[in-house]
Amino acid sequence: MNIGLFGGTFDPIHRGHIALASAAVERCNLSRVHFVPVGTHPLKGSQPAASYSDRYAMVALATQGEKAFVPSLLETPEADAAKSARKGGSSERSPNFTIDTVRKFKQTLKKADRLFFLVGIDAFQDIAKWKEPEALLRECDFIVASRPGFSLADVANSLPGKLRPSAAVTKPFHRQPAKGDLVLSGVTIHLLDNVNQAVSATAVRQAVAAKKPLGKLLDPKVEEYIKKRGLYGGKVEF
Ligand code: ATP
Repeated sequence: MNIGLFGGTFDPIHRGHIALASAAVERCNLSRVHFVPVGTHPLKGSQPAASYSDRYAMVALATQGEKAFVPSLLETPEADAAKSARKGGSSERSPNFTIDTVRKFKQTLKKADRLFFLVGIDAFQDIAKWKEPEALLRECDFIVASRPGFSLADVANSLPGKLRPSAAVTKPFHRQPAKGDLVLSGVTIHLLDNVNQAVSATAVRQAVAAKKPLGKLLDPKVEEYIKKRGLYGGKVEF
């Protein structure tokens, strides 16, 4: 089976995330996509506005209607605490690195399964700063959702040093849209160029705080949850 793993802060999960996962299912024939709310993000400086449990609950609500979408507790604080206790460490949360999550998840897969990691191009542009980026890119296929205006060169130039093609090679890529497959030694990146959802979690949080209508940014069940829980500066509704 082809299985997708989609990590994100999901603070909150919105239509852009669902559109990315749906496009990935179609393009790479995925049987499942596991949505993994990040425990502690290694690169985002600030903490998420909503707690882990609220972010997980919203992911569970937004993935309810789609059989292939599975909410995942891979980075739950309990899992981290158990790991830390086994190592005799402190109770403070350490960052969740994607390579660790991917390796942990792969232990649950069958030999014939193929793993795909889903990511948007804005996050992929930082991949060289992730932990063990080359090893990570060799652990599984990547599905990168592009946005209008991004070229194949943006994807190639984001790769960590040893995998990055030379400037002479990527020059013609500047005129090529980020679509198709980028195949390098032991690394396969599938590019989706049809995920054009102008929505971000930041815009959702701002709209909630400003009491603006959320329109089509979110699943209505997630919107209701945000209101009931009074998240992001919205009012608590009973
Ligand atoms: P924030 O605005 O708080 O930075 P975000 O909307 O980017 O959040 P994340 O949970 O940080 O959401 O993103 C998880 C993944 O989803 C990332 O790989 C990101 O690139 C991707 N993503 C987020 N929004 C979109 C979108 N509108 N279209 C395609 N991919 C997206």
